[in-house]
Order: sequence, then C-alpha cells, then structure tokens
Amino acid sequence: MLSAITTDIVAEAIRRHQTAPTASAALGRVMTGTLLMAATLKDFDRLSTRIECTGPIGAIIAEATKDGAVRGYVKNPDAELPPSEDGKFDVRGIIGEGMFYVIRESGFDIGLHIDPYVGSVPIVSGEIAEDFAYYLAKSEQIPSAVMLGVLLNNSEPFVAASGGVMIQMMPGANEHLITMIEDTIAHAPHLTTVINEKTRPEDLLKLALGEIDFEILDERDVSFECTCSLDKAVAMVEALGRDEVASMLAEQGEAVMNCGFCNEVYSLDAAVLSGLLKG
Ligand code: ZN
Repeated sequence: MLSAITTDIVAEAIRRHQTAPTASAALGRVMTGTLLMAATLKDFDRLSTRIECTGPIGAIIAEATKDGAVRGYVKNPDAELPPSEDGKFDVRGIIGEGMFYVIRESGFDIGLHIDPYVGSVPIVSGEIAEDFAYYLAKSEQIPSAVMLGVLLNNSEPFVAASGGVMIQMMPGANEHLITMIEDTIAHAPHLTTVINEKTRPEDLLKLALGEIDFEILDERDVSFECTCSLDKAVAMVEALGRDEVASMLAEQGEAVMNCGFCNEVYSLDAAVLSGLLKG
C-alpha cells in the first residue's frame, strides 16, 4: 500500500515540456502511477510505462526508479480538449484507444544486459488510474486499487497539488479486507476534489482505507530526475563518427541536442567538436 505527493515533480515536468493543461494532467497521473509502481520493484531497478494511443497526445512515457526518481514526457505536449461534462480534464479524450506497456529493467547502469520484463494490456479507461489497476490485475494477477489526481491552477507553477495511492493485494489477502477497501475507494471522492497544498501522503492513505488502521513502514523523498548529462550528449555526438562530427563543425559550427525525457538542451560548441576530432 503506497501513496505519494508529486506536486513538485509534476510542476517540473510541466515547466520542462510546456504541456497544455489536459496533457499536463495526463502526464502527471502517469508519472505518479509509475513512481508508485516502481516503489514495489524487487528484482529490477527501473520501471517504465508507455501509453501508445490514437488520441491527440499520441504517447505518454514515464520512467522511475525504486528510490523515487521519476522522469516523463508526452509525444504531443499541445494535446488539449474542452473539459468533459463533469468539468474535469478530458484525459480519456486525448488518449483515445491504445496500449499500456510496463517495462522493468535492471543492470544498465553497470553495463549488464538482463532481459527486460515487458507486460502490456489494452487501454480500458483512458483515465489512467483504472488502467494501472487493470494492468496489475490482468497482467500480474495482483488485485489492485489505484487513485491518481492532478489539480492544476492558472498561474505558475500551474500545479496546485498532485498525488496518488496504490493498493496491491498480497496473494491470500483477507477477502473481507479487500471488499472493504474496494468499497471505500468506490465511494471516495475524486482525488482532485480532496487533494490540496496541505495534503500529505498519509492523508491519501486514510482516504483510500477509510476506517482501516494502518502503520507507516517506510517513507522516501521523490523527485523529477533525468539520467542525461553533458558527458552523455558529447559521447552520443562522438558515436556518430568523425565524418559526421566534421560536417557538423563545418556546416553548423556546433551541435545542439535535447533530451526527450526532460527537454534539457545541450549545446556542443566548435571547441568541443574540434576536440572530438583531435581525440
Ligand atoms: Zn534528460
């Protein structure tokens, strides 16, 4: 049973990717769900989720470590639709139909190639929390309840509050308890109507668990973190080969790369490019 407040993470993602409001809500929910699912990793150290869909957003990608670092982006940051009838962001509308993939990976940081574990299910809801729960139930046989909410406002940093709860039932869990939790969640208000600047992760657990007592076993900080760096950008340019580097130097006098995950821009000037040719 896990919960997280991701307000700062979602604000950072919006700042970096300049996402429209509905795209921001979708990305925030996916990043929060990915972070929660990654916190349960045992044999792997990195978990990615990928939504590939027919709606205007095109795709949503997020990646998290079990230590609480998460990054993410969407294919089309401008994806936007008018609010749905109940006044909420039409996240389902910008996603449409498609597939939800979950990839667990390990060992890349130390050069080991362990086969990633990939699971997928069709998108059944498009509201994202239900899609995470459906994936866990269908692909991993873990009955689950998931709540994700992103509350936006009109001025920077555009996120008033964001967070989520993920409850994964252990095999052999008490049926009565499962029914109680399912019932509480089914009747709980939508997360965005209760979450605000003062909400703490334990408040979200209380919301999901109702009368059931719980004990906090572990707490950790979470953050938007990308694994890109100037060194990696230089290595990628170098890997293009001497001819390519020479023509970049001759034609543009520099190489500019931006990271898809975090939108950080790396500029390699003429001195750096000449250095690569000498090396
Ligand atoms: Zn990056």
